[in-house]
Amino acid sequence: MPQARGARPSGSSGEEGSTLRDRLIARIRRDGPITVAQYMDACLHDQEAGYYATRPGLGAKGDFITAPHVSQMFGELMGLWAAEVWIRLGRPARVRLVELGPGDGTLMSDALRAVRIAPGFRDAAEIVLVETSAPLRKRQLAALDGHAPRWLSAIGDIDAGAPVIILGNEFLDCLPIRQAVRRADGWRERRIGIDGSGRLSFAASQPVDGPDVPEGAVLEWSTELVAMGSALGALVAREGGAALLVDYGRSKPAYGDTLQALRGHHKEDPLAHPGLADLTAHVDFPAFLTAAEATGVQVSPVEFQGDFLRRLGIEERAAGLGRAHPEQAEKIGRQLARLIAPDQMGELFKVARIAAPGLELP
Ligand code: SAH
Repeated sequence: MPQARGARPSGSSGEEGSTLRDRLIARIRRDGPITVAQYMDACLHDQEAGYYATRPGLGAKGDFITAPHVSQMFGELMGLWAAEVWIRLGRPARVRLVELGPGDGTLMSDALRAVRIAPGFRDAAEIVLVETSAPLRKRQLAALDGHAPRWLSAIGDIDAGAPVIILGNEFLDCLPIRQAVRRADGWRERRIGIDGSGRLSFAASQPVDGPDVPEGAVLEWSTELVAMGSALGALVAREGGAALLVDYGRSKPAYGDTLQALRGHHKEDPLAHPGLADLTAHVDFPAFLTAAEATGVQVSPVEFQGDFLRRLGIEERAAGLGRAHPEQAEKIGRQLARLIAPDQMGELFKVARIAAPGLELP
C-alpha cells in the first residue's frame, strides 16, 4: 500500500491548506457554525482551494484508487452493460452514453474498448461527461483521445433528443451530507464550529427531528443525493434509457458517522486538512432510489457489486485474461478478488439501477 505523504494528526499546525481553513474559520466566526454539507462543498469544490477544483489525487500516486484502477475488467463490464441496454432499446441510431464524475477517464476508456463487441453502438453513442473539475477534465481528454467527448457541469444540462445510458462509479459518495447526533435532550444537527483553541471542531447545534433511538446515534441525510435521484429519474423517464450507479453505501437505513477523509491512501480526521483530502460519505441508496422511483422509472433492488459483476461474467473475463497473459494470472486473480470478495469491495460497494418504463435491464 502506498504510504501517507506526511499526514499529521488532526489539530497540528498544518500550514498547507491554511488559506481554505482560515477562510472557513473567518466564515464561522462571522456566520456561526456551518453544516457538514457546507463544509464538504467548500472542501471539494471551492474554486481556489477545493480538492476537486484544484488537486484531485486519483490513482496509486495520489490519495485514493477506485474500481477502474483496480482492474480494466470493471470498466469493460460497465461498457458491456451499456451496449446490452442499447441492444434492448432496439439499437437506436443515436444514444447518449453519459458518465457522471468520470475521474481520470479510465472507466470510460475501458468501457469504450469493450463496446466494440456490439457493432454499431460506438457510432450511435455520443460520449457525454458530467464533470465539474477542470484538472480532471484535462485528464479525461487525454484518456479519451479520439473519442470526442462533450463535457457538461450538471445532468440538468443534458438536452432532449435521444435515449441516455448513464454510468457512474464513486460519484454519489461525493454529494454533501448533513448529520445529526442523538443526545439525551434529543437530536441535534452536527455542525462545524471553532473550539477553545481556535481550531475547527464538530459541535452539536440546532435541534432537529429524528426517531427515538439510543444516545450517541448519528443520522445522515443528503438533499443533494435525493435531488440527484429525482433528476436522474426524470431524465431517464423523459429520454428513455437506463442508469447504473456503483458506490459504497448502505442498502437499508442505518445509523453511523460515515464521513471519511482520504489523503495519501490513509484515512484522516475530516477536519484536519480542508481542501487537501478527498471527502466522501456512504451513499444512502434507499433515499436515492425512492426519489428516482417517484419520477415514474423502474428501480432494481440494491445489489452487491460482487454479485453484479459475477452475473456480468467477471470470472470468465478474468480466466480469459489469465489465459492470454499467463505471467499475470496471479495478479489478475488478486484484482478479481479485490472487486468481488465479500470482505474486500464485493459487499461494501453496491449497485443501483434505474430503467425507463418497459425496458428490461440486463
Ligand atoms: N468515477 C471515477 C472518479 C471518482 S471520484 C472513478 O471511479 O475512478 C469523483 C468524481 O466525481 C470526480 O471526477 C469528481 O470531480 C466528480 N464530481 C464530484 N462532485 C461532482 C459534482 N457535484 N458534479 C459533477 N462531478 C462531480
